Amino acid sequence: MGAGKPLVIVGASYAGVQLAASARELGFEERIVLIGDETHAPYQRPPLSKGLLTGKTTVDKLALRGPDFFAQNNIELLLGRRATTLDAVAQTLSLDDGGALGYGWLALMTGARCRPFTLPGAELDGVLNLRTLDDALRIEAAAAALMATGQRACVIGGGFIGLEVAAALRSRGIEVTVIEAQPHLLTRSFPPAMSAYVENAHRRRGIELLTGHAVRALHGEHGRVAAVALEGGRRIDCGLVVLGIGVLPNTELAQQAGIAVENGIVVDMLGRTSAPQVLAAGDVANMALPTASGASNGPARMRLESIQAANDGARAVASLLVGREQPCTAVPWFWSDQFELKFQMAGLPAHDDEVVLRGDMATDRFSVFYLRHGTLVAAHTVNKPAEHMQSRKLIGAHVQLTAAELADESFDLKRVPLPVAAT
Ligand SMILES: Cc1cc2nc3c(=O)[nH]c(=O)nc-3n(C[C@H](O)[C@H](O)[C@H](O)COP(=O)(O)OP(=O)(O)OC[C@H]3O[C@@H](n4cnc5c(N)ncnc54)[C@H](O)[C@@H]3O)c2cc1C
Repeated sequence: MGAGKPLVIVGASYAGVQLAASARELGFEERIVLIGDETHAPYQRPPLSKGLLTGKTTVDKLALRGPDFFAQNNIELLLGRRATTLDAVAQTLSLDDGGALGYGWLALMTGARCRPFTLPGAELDGVLNLRTLDDALRIEAAAAALMATGQRACVIGGGFIGLEVAAALRSRGIEVTVIEAQPHLLTRSFPPAMSAYVENAHRRRGIELLTGHAVRALHGEHGRVAAVALEGGRRIDCGLVVLGIGVLPNTELAQQAGIAVENGIVVDMLGRTSAPQVLAAGDVANMALPTASGASNGPARMRLESIQAANDGARAVASLLVGREQPCTAVPWFWSDQFELKFQMAGLPAHDDEVVLRGDMATDRFSVFYLRHGTLVAAHTVNKPAEHMQSRKLIGAHVQLTAAELADESFDLKRVPLPVAAT
């Protein structure tokens, strides 16, 4: 091991664990201390709203790394410990147990937390968030109770996590109402035809979907949620409310240390913050995007909430630590499982891109492509994993394609020539 000051990582989830792993793989020899305030060993979050709630997976299958991984790689894992204060000038970090650590490098991989729900009734029992394993176990227990009583569940917020929870509960026979304030679902991610497809998919599978409806309050009986009251007077009786209203980045340490924060910690493509020796990646980071891509008239930076962004951002940070800088230029991608539908999203579409449908939405197997000045910049697929994988390569290679080619299912996407580096 080196004799310098350690790499201290705050946040023991995707970005933090990937950084520790990649740093070791690349030969980083200093001490690595990985601090996480959750008490569970680092675990996978996507199955919390998918496999765990449907019963397709169990808690013992969620570990992010094998039990020996941290010891074998000489990574000191401090769980159940919270970093409370950062002094970026003295390069020290204080912990909630009274201890303090000096660092050579500090990585803020603090992720995000659920946006607070502030309407009357938010404090009632049976009003639950979903971010952590403990949250998922609470929803799981509440769902089991609903199955016994036949009561309804309400999901507030029709984003990906809300829809996954709704689908999981419905697939267990529970009556579910999804309440979304916007007139349509997922309008920030999807064009109108895709939003309409998702809405139909949920309604056809028995979800009551109320779009364009705002919640006024939650009502309880004996301290437990009993109904959701909507603006306009409608009341929906229920025994469980799951909140899917988005997340806020955990930027407090950075803010308090005077580090630039704007919808997340502002970082470049190597994860460098405005403070020397302080780095960030994952859900907490608002990362610069490559400008020399097909997305060149898109935003200059973005805070992405995905496993891919956390892992690729962490890899870029690790490359910086060992002096072999590899900026994060990966094509963003994301997935969501709802009922038997696998949605896979690659690239960053903009509202004025040309939208091309390939396949028939009625079959639940199709792709939607996005062209910007003839360049493929994004693809959304449903139950088409091979087209998703190929699209990622094509988007990364900035290939030029026509709408007619993309719409033609006999046009083989695998035969589109790629520059050697992108194959
Ligand atoms: C239910 C669910 C389903 C999802 N499904 C998908 C999916 O299908 N595909 C996909 O790509 N993404 C999915 N995501 C998003 C994905 O999980 C996140 O993008 C990813 O977890 C981000 O990783 P991260 O390491 O940046 O942050 P996080 O996973 O949020 O981890 C940050 C960690 O830091 C800890 N922490 C924060 N502050 C401190 C502190 N001061 N001291 C110590 N520890 C601290 C937090 O408690 C947390 O454990 C899902 C998320 C959820 C909740």
